[in-house]
Amino acid sequence: MADLVTSPTNLAKYNACFAWGDFNQSSYVGNLESASGNSLSKREPRWIGLFLHRILQFCLEKSENSFANAIDILTALRTETTWAAFIDEIDDDQIPLSPLPEFSDFGETQFQDLRSLLFEMNNEYGRYPTEFYCEEEITDFKIIDGLIIRLGFIDFIMKVDYGGETEFSVIDWKSSVPKSNASAQQKFGVQMDIYWRWLRDKLGKKLGSDDPVGGTYLVPISRKKDSGQPVGFVEIEIDELSDDDYKSLLSRIARMEITPGEHCSFCDLVQHCPSDDGPFRYDLSDSEKWIGSSIPRDSQFIIDFSSRECRLIEQTQRKFVFKFDNPERKLTIFGLPHDFNPDGHHRMVVKLARKIGAARNRLGVWFVR
Ligand code: SF4
Repeated sequence: MADLVTSPTNLAKYNACFAWGDFNQSSYVGNLESASGNSLSKREPRWIGLFLHRILQFCLEKSENSFANAIDILTALRTETTWAAFIDEIDDDQIPLSPLPEFSDFGETQFQDLRSLLFEMNNEYGRYPTEFYCEEEITDFKIIDGLIIRLGFIDFIMKVDYGGETEFSVIDWKSSVPKSNASAQQKFGVQMDIYWRWLRDKLGKKLGSDDPVGGTYLVPISRKKDSGQPVGFVEIEIDELSDDDYKSLLSRIARMEITPGEHCSFCDLVQHCPSDDGPFRYDLSDSEKWIGSSIPRDSQFIIDFSSRECRLIEQTQRKFVFKFDNPERKLTIFGLPHDFNPDGHHRMVVKLARKIGAARNRLGVWFVR
């Protein structure tokens, strides 16, 4: 069988579902730059995540290995001069953020979230000599026979000298807190393990260590669900994988296993899913699904309902209200695209609308795509 040549993030998609990985692989191998440079909506979690990554990268790269300096740079970003320097720099990125952010996009919430993260990292590591490495590139890296990583980027590597003992932290910034450590391992285990292998096998020597010691961590830039305060610095450690894990992944790919799951809400194939049962979704013809506790509160999810089971009762410019008769229920969808067809197939990716939320008889959602 020919080698699978891919990226760490795409391999993670393959790990979730063959069709999702394969769909992304076609654009990845064809033209990585143009595929990644596609314009996103500024409301999309992906754009927001990339934007926050770029700010952190800018602050840490210019900080001369000091979190305290990084906080000063973050604060200076609220001035037009430093902001202009930031935009100049990210405009030159190999894969520029598209659309580019404007000064008004860097609001108080983002500033507080990033400041609280850097502040707590400074409390934790500020007293030790540290070295920072941002956006470390991975190229042409063989993982096992049949699997090659062509290109990838590690968000942040931190080398900390604890007085003679050196430890490395390989960090991936995340724009939300994973539901549990098990789901974080499931979703990001492959990606993070590749990062660690790159450090262990290729990069360690360059960074002054033949046999690096340390771990890989997801670090969310987010808010606490209960208090709405920034989470500060939280590390979610991700375990290493074995070569056998990769062999088993390659054989699942060879068998073209299509696996619906919560990851479906991030898959571009959601409207054309090749799975016999379609993507994992909330089928609104099942009345139990209307209970608030069963609806994800902070992540996007897929709803599915048939036009035979509901009627459009109200339509404003970008809001549609549907009524289900038996039992009687109302579904309100906000932010619909102008070309939305209420008679078409009703399967869409949404987020819970904060104001209306979910109750047994009504559900308010915000259209994502
Ligand atoms: S929507 Fe279909 S193709 Fe996409 S991840 Fe889900 S099961 Fe796989």
